[in-house]
Amino acid sequence: MPSKLLDALLLAMPLSPTLESWRQHLKTQLPYPVQGAQTLFIGEPTLAIVSFQHDRAEVLLPAMEWRHHDIHTAKPRSQGGVDEQSGSLAQLLALVDETMALRLKSFHECGSCGKRCAPELLGSLQGEPVCRDCIKGRRVLF
Ligand SMILES: [Zn+2]
Repeated sequence: MPSKLLDALLLAMPLSPTLESWRQHLKTQLPYPVQGAQTLFIGEPTLAIVSFQHDRAEVLLPAMEWRHHDIHTAKPRSQGGVDEQSGSLAQLLALVDETMALRLKSFHECGSCGKRCAPELLGSLQGEPVCRDCIKGRRVLF
């Protein structure tokens, strides 16, 4: 029961009112879908990850490590954190913005339909990046 486990963890280590208000802001005020509880996954596909710890919020860049041409594992990279004592929500939002911009830069254009996709959603066809939709739909000209 992952959700019960998560609830238990949240009860065991409640966030401070400051961090909780930052978390609520991210959950409700961003123009992106946000999933998660103590760790928030912002965007679909995920553009930035915010992990709430007992006195700080850490922002991570979603990054993938390729193990095989079609298999990847998530290896998020820390972009820094904001302490609740010395930091502010504005700093956290700026860091989230920066991280999302960095993530969007890693997106590539599909060689077939031109849509910009997360690298992990692109396959390769004759050395050209092509999105999953195009590969699946075989809308690719050979
Ligand atoms: Zn495409």
